Amino acid sequence: MSKPVIVAVDDDPQVLAAVARDLRRQYGESYRIVRAGSGSEALAALAELTGRGDTVALFVVDQRMPEMSGTEFLASVVPAYPDAKKILLTAYADTDAAISAINEVGLDHYLMKPWDPPEEHLYPVLDELLDDWRAAVPTPYDGIKVVGVRWSPDSYDVKDFLSRNQVPYRFMDVETEPEARAIAGAGDRRAELPLVVFPDGTRLERPDHRTLADYAGLQTEALTSHYDLVIIGAGPAGLGAGVYGASEGLRTAVIERHATGGQAGQSSRIENYLGFPKGISGGDLARRATAQAKRLGAEILTAVEATGVRVEDPTKIVTLSNGTELSCRALLVASGMTIRTLDVPGAESLIGAGIWYGAAVAEAVTYRGEDVLVVGGANSAGQAAMMLSRFARTVTLVVRGESIEARMSQYLIDQIAATPNIMVRLHTEVAGVAGEGHLEKVTLRDRGDGSEDTIDAGGLFIFIGARPHSELVDGVVLRDQRGFVLTGSDLMVDGAWPRLWPLTRDPFLLETSVPGIFAAGDVRANVIRRVASAVGQGAVAVSLIHRYLETA
Ligand SMILES: Cc1cc2nc3c(=O)[nH]c(=O)nc-3n(C[C@H](O)[C@H](O)[C@H](O)COP(=O)(O)OP(=O)(O)OC[C@H]3O[C@@H](n4cnc5c(N)ncnc54)[C@H](O)[C@@H]3O)c2cc1C
Repeated sequence: MSKPVIVAVDDDPQVLAAVARDLRRQYGESYRIVRAGSGSEALAALAELTGRGDTVALFVVDQRMPEMSGTEFLASVVPAYPDAKKILLTAYADTDAAISAINEVGLDHYLMKPWDPPEEHLYPVLDELLDDWRAAVPTPYDGIKVVGVRWSPDSYDVKDFLSRNQVPYRFMDVETEPEARAIAGAGDRRAELPLVVFPDGTRLERPDHRTLADYAGLQTEALTSHYDLVIIGAGPAGLGAGVYGASEGLRTAVIERHATGGQAGQSSRIENYLGFPKGISGGDLARRATAQAKRLGAEILTAVEATGVRVEDPTKIVTLSNGTELSCRALLVASGMTIRTLDVPGAESLIGAGIWYGAAVAEAVTYRGEDVLVVGGANSAGQAAMMLSRFARTVTLVVRGESIEARMSQYLIDQIAATPNIMVRLHTEVAGVAGEGHLEKVTLRDRGDGSEDTIDAGGLFIFIGARPHSELVDGVVLRDQRGFVLTGSDLMVDGAWPRLWPLTRDPFLLETSVPGIFAAGDVRANVIRRVASAVGQGAVAVSLIHRYLETA
């Protein structure tokens, strides 16, 4: 099989030679470097490559070329090579062109010339992009094969577990691929599918996550039984704490029951996380953060659930689903939550393109003069409707119940009643959504007579509930009525700390009602639910844990 290709294009022969030299030195073993002195020369080379069935992994293209600019060249190759990564080489004066190219051609990065030394300015950027490319593009390989039925939930579960844990595999459908049927064996073997076949010939029929994780080389057993810091959950908060804990010398273990990345790992594109001008997919962010935490020394146990917590002062003990226990000096609960999502056809593809969950009310200002809907009957929905009414032309509050009194505070009900551009539709649910690329129409159904009507709307803000993953600390730390963990000043009742708080000092900002047990991210009560917020809390928790350990 031929190597994937990196294409370098620059009209200056000296610069082109330097680019090609630097690329060959670092990537020559795994990639073929093809160079061209102009856009048209590169297009001719590409026609030849395509004819031979070669794959292009990366374009490194100069912006300032006389006959065809770098951006123009990239725009012309995007349709044929949508998965290839794209880098523009620029001078200071080209920065604006490069930023526009992020939107126009999906540019992945721009690099200022010169990039000496390449070890500092070129290779780190290219390494990350090529890792992302390899993770996303199914290159031919003789690795793990998953043989199953395309639309079967069991096959989906195995594929989802492997891909969310960044384990490459090839899916083979027994219904359409003779090779898959040959691997599965004679007869109707559906009851035994999915079948996972490993390169050493091991065959696992309908494996559970734990077995799959073991065979796929993920860590499922802790290396020791006592840690300075144990973190429950490897979403952004847990991974953030893992990076800071391990890098600051704490013996750190992170326990994850499913896959690293948490809710963020399921997001197709996170646009608002600092440092990624093009946005980043949740999968890529999870993969990078996991690699970073491991490199710095954190142990990450996957497919292992924390099932209980007890305190033998000052030690905290976590029971795990694999039957073992881990003890630690400080414990961080970063187990996040699950949001309830809108279960109507087409809704998933419009998330982030008009359909927004939770904290996305920050999008409110972009809906100036438009018609929007808010779904939900509790305070969060009422607050969102009020906030949106300041910008939107109309806000329709869609409530399933007979009244909003049941779950909303009176002050909000009064405010909504006094706001002329908010309409309340009781006894109503969302039956459908539609839009080309972004939300355009929402169909509402009366829950009484089943009648439906479709209205134009650019925004649909959903607040139909969230469930914190905090059962495992039930009865150990204080939680609010909905089960979110209380920390810091939220523990105060009528200006006093709860009676069970045993110390003379106040609880730290992210400390729970038990000294030395901290919480970060979406599992906390009264928190901003965002990736950056969760990562930040993970980092802050570690610095507070240092202070706790100094005084404990
Ligand atoms: C579809 C979607 C899109 C989003 N898009 C954006 C966006 O664009 N920008 C943005 O800023 N925010 C976005 N968010 C919100 C953001 O993802 C969350 O705020 C963030 O992931 C919270 O991080 P966390 O670590 O606190 O919790 P989570 O991400 O929920 O992670 C918690 C982890 O803990 C694990 N866990 C739970 N219980 C246990 C247990 N008992 N034992 C072991 N492990 C356990 C879970 O499996 C999970 O992996 C989005 C959320 C969703 C659902």
